[in-house]
Amino acid sequence: IERFAPNLNSLAGESTLVYQEKAREVAARGVKVINFGIGQPDVPTPAVAREEAKLALDQGFTGYTSALGLEELRQAVADDLKERLGSDVRKEEVIITPGAKMSLFLAFAAFVAPGDEVLLFDPAFYSYAEVARLLGARPTYAKMRRESGKGFSIDLEDVQSKLSPKTKMIVLNNPSNPTAALLDKKEVEGLAQIAKERGILLLSDEIYDHFIYEGEMASSLDDSSWRDYVIYVNGFSKTFSMTGWRLGYVVADSSVIKKMGTLAANTYTCPNSFAQRGALGAFRAKGEVQQMVDLFKRRRDVIYGELSSLKGVSLDKPRATFYAFLEVTQVLKTTGWSAKQFSIKLIEEKGVVTIPGDVFPENVGRNYVRLSFALAEDKIREGTKRIAEFVRESL
Ligand code: PLP
Repeated sequence: IERFAPNLNSLAGESTLVYQEKAREVAARGVKVINFGIGQPDVPTPAVAREEAKLALDQGFTGYTSALGLEELRQAVADDLKERLGSDVRKEEVIITPGAKMSLFLAFAAFVAPGDEVLLFDPAFYSYAEVARLLGARPTYAKMRRESGKGFSIDLEDVQSKLSPKTKMIVLNNPSNPTAALLDKKEVEGLAQIAKERGILLLSDEIYDHFIYEGEMASSLDDSSWRDYVIYVNGFSKTFSMTGWRLGYVVADSSVIKKMGTLAANTYTCPNSFAQRGALGAFRAKGEVQQMVDLFKRRRDVIYGELSSLKGVSLDKPRATFYAFLEVTQVLKTTGWSAKQFSIKLIEEKGVVTIPGDVFPENVGRNYVRLSFALAEDKIREGTKRIAEFVRESL
């Protein structure tokens, strides 16, 4: 049957999976693959979360929950935001969803209509543009600027110039996948100002907000008038290494959350019951989260140390997330490859997986590859050694 809805035909498959597939082929030939492609922490989910989920299962806590999620968990999210950011959030302003991706989907589905424009930053997490298009909206882009040595930042003047009367929403990802940028207070406040003045929503995906190595988090919830324009998204996947549990959340004005609850009730009903009980436990694992962040900071130092001195490529020190966004322009120019071809050849010839920057729309990523450093130090050293050989042989 090929009678798909027209917008579905424009949806890209999860393009990062192509590189994992290629890696499996290479591994089957007996090559020891080093995988910088995976966007998830490699540490176990905290024991308290696992224990709570097991207990919930044994207690028969296996039925539907409220479409909005467990009240205790919504309260725990509000308490956590109060503690971490000092933001006043009530549980009525929180919905728990099956993963942050579903939080994002609810935000788009609640507000974006055919013909609307959605302003994204270039480069952006790949699914924003896909979901916008699925709903009949058009993604437009403001470029992130890179200052060598400092990394990426946003350009508020460019944002202003890319807005039109059709722009419904600005989508921000801070800290940013794939650039590892951490926006400062001035940038976030500037965006807030623009959104408020122009009557545009700010969808702020802050899922990497625990992974900060230098600088301070400027959250969209810092502004006390956030209820007027912010749709805040975060989740359990990265912070608590719970990617497979599928739990995320939205914070927004209670009227928005109510609508999202209606959307939830008519689509997925509710998030997983016993996973939510586990998530309640996760909030008690702050020490383990800190240990993970400390571990990732050491790994960040290793990957930066190895790649920043390499001739022919360029890397700014990642200040946040667990990604290194490596510029490979010189190699691409010399060889005539695209970033995609660079990544494929690197897997085939050296057994090293990276994600080419051109999967992150729109244009800026074309000269980059993304490396996740959520893997053991010895693997980072071995992988970067092979990358160094590959770059040397290519130039
Ligand atoms: N937002 C960003 C920026 C991400 O990088 C990811 C995961 O890669 C997600 C959202 C999705 O998170 P979840 O696994 O909770 O759906």
